[in-house]
Amino acid sequence: MSEVKMVEAPEGFEGSGFFATSLDKVMGIARSHSLWPLPFATSCCGIEFMATMASHYDISRFGSERPSFSPRQADILMVMGTIAKKMGPIVRQVYAQMAEPKWVMAVGACASSGGIFDTYSVLQGIDRVIPVDVYVPGCPPRPEQILDGLMQIQELAKSESLRRRDSDEYKALLDSYKIL
Ligand code: SF4
Repeated sequence: MSEVKMVEAPEGFEGSGFFATSLDKVMGIARSHSLWPLPFATSCCGIEFMATMASHYDISRFGSERPSFSPRQADILMVMGTIAKKMGPIVRQVYAQMAEPKWVMAVGACASSGGIFDTYSVLQGIDRVIPVDVYVPGCPPRPEQILDGLMQIQELAKSESLRRRDSDEYKALLDSYKIL
């Protein structure tokens, strides 16, 4: 039987290949300009999101003017406000219902760390129940800060490989949150 020889890629063409990496970039740019947010607002920070949506700050400049109240059609879960511990499983369920690729923004001190509510009934940051991509500081954050957080997620969407979500590393991250 004849021996099968592997053809080696020429120097500079190793890895995923020109077509796959270019497709990654094009898809990333397209995605980054049409990220649909799911506003999960429980208290005051949600009011700042309303200002962010309005004409003065005009989130539509970033392609995110279409809020999705169905997790299945949303790209960014924006958690805004105090999350009681009893809400934790609901936040996790909403996250689990979102299709890949998806990102999470913790908007404001309460969603990021519990904020001023350092008490038995309040979740001390949503990263106790789901992975968070961007934390927006402030109590409440100004609309400019929320837009800055959105721009950071746009950068993540642009730079992320289409295959990252299939990686063992990402699955292990979800597994550590018991979302798989
Ligand atoms: Fe309200 Fe401040 Fe908490 Fe935002 S961070 S929900 S403004 S208390």
